[in-house]
Amino acid sequence: MIATKTVSSFIGGQFRESHAAKPDAIPDPATGQTIASLPHSTRDEINEAVAAAKRAFAGWSETPVPDRAQVMFRFKALFDQHLDELAALVTLENGKTLDESRGEVKRAVEVIDFACGAPTLMMGTNLDQIARGIDEELVRFPVGVVAGITPFNFPNMVPLWMIPVAIVTGNTFVLKPSQLTPLSAMRIAELLQEAGLPAGVFNVVHGANDAVSQLLTHPDIAAISFVGSASVAAYIYATAAANGKRVQALGGAKNHILVMDDADPEIAAQHVNSSAFGNAGQRCLAGSVAVGVGRIGDALVRELVADAAKIKVGPGTESQTTMGPVIRGERKKKLIEYIDGARSQGATMVADGRQIDLKDGYFLGPTIFDHVTSEMQIWKEELFGPVLSVVRADDIDEALAVLNSSTYGNMASIFTRSGKNAREFKRRAQAGMLGVNIGVAAPMAFFPFTGWKNSFFGDLHATGQDSIRFYTRHKVVTTRWF
Ligand code: NAD
Repeated sequence: MIATKTVSSFIGGQFRESHAAKPDAIPDPATGQTIASLPHSTRDEINEAVAAAKRAFAGWSETPVPDRAQVMFRFKALFDQHLDELAALVTLENGKTLDESRGEVKRAVEVIDFACGAPTLMMGTNLDQIARGIDEELVRFPVGVVAGITPFNFPNMVPLWMIPVAIVTGNTFVLKPSQLTPLSAMRIAELLQEAGLPAGVFNVVHGANDAVSQLLTHPDIAAISFVGSASVAAYIYATAAANGKRVQALGGAKNHILVMDDADPEIAAQHVNSSAFGNAGQRCLAGSVAVGVGRIGDALVRELVADAAKIKVGPGTESQTTMGPVIRGERKKKLIEYIDGARSQGATMVADGRQIDLKDGYFLGPTIFDHVTSEMQIWKEELFGPVLSVVRADDIDEALAVLNSSTYGNMASIFTRSGKNAREFKRRAQAGMLGVNIGVAAPMAFFPFTGWKNSFFGDLHATGQDSIRFYTRHKVVTTRWF
């Protein structure tokens, strides 16, 4: 798997140890034990990675599209072949359960599948005879060197929202994965190399704010794909755009799930909990606010508490575990501060996850607050952990008003038996990804990942046709032959 305990960078087809002085210790979140050490790339190393990508662009952008797609077919076969091993690596560095990690890797494969269709997806359009003897056509070209900056919560899938589509459309790529979870990125590099990707087309550098700032201002980078928290996404969008780059910046979320009083409270509660507590709540599509609408509130809370009691918290590697740890001790501490704050602001705690009988690792059990209001900090902010808020609303208008007053707009969902309620919700909910009787409304790779408000900064989203457009620029050619 990983060649050495020290995480290397990947520059111009070479795995190289960085010369940086003070590496980060990377712990296994389930034990707190160090599993690797991560030197941050130096300025020179980052410049070398961008230079390698720039050099490789000349040849790769001229490689016929079907040949580029063949690399993706081989990459996909390798991903399928190594699925369990890739999933184990995600669990090791991120802590989620092996089932969740397998799910993550399968979602990544869907993007590779999509990218294999590049010869069709990249086709332009044309119109014969726009004037007498004159034809016009639109042709797509890659944009150049793309930098990807990714979060810790999906160390395999989120880089692969970007890499396959960016590369297959003829761009070259520099990835800066989360400094909390850098291992999966290196395995991706190995498999791309094994799939026959030419040296320099894909590169990996490591680091945090300084590395990102260098990439955002680097004159040889044409586009930035970012996924992370909202405040950083806003900064990335503004800075990259001010430096003349095309940018897509996916931010954080506070996803509301409306449970109407015509829904089955038991079924709805199972889906709400699985949305709120899957991946220990560290998901941008986590339903972190349940809105009980009308008379269902008490029954819903009862079912949520009963269902949460069945969640088995423990190391992601153990087969009976259904919820792993959060990513770091500091995050756990911050979550406990939020929990204490919610109690002092008057929310009613109905499930307390703080008392977990596991001495090592960064574990926090499922925590549920009832009677949360939109004045409270736990409603306003993205907590990114296993904490669910329940808001009570009298009717769908009030429920939609709460949902729509959030500064975020990633996902929202409704549980109902009424087509009328569902239709109202679809038309009026201000979020980009909606579910009807779905807990986690994640679009498949051939659709875009369409967050709104502070959940997305930019114009063209990740994956789907949006991603083809993001990673290509057009030429419109008007032709007359005398
Ligand atoms: P984060 O914003 O802390 O980090 C994301 C990336 O940005 C990392 O590579 C990090 O090194 C870099 N970064 C962090 N702070 C920076 C700064 N001040 N300047 C420059 N670069 C900086 O996010 P995280 O904690 O790794 O991931 C969780 C967040 O990502 C959550 O908010 C979650 O909702 C969001 N997320 C969103 C989506 C989506 O599709 N909208 C998907 C996954 C995760």
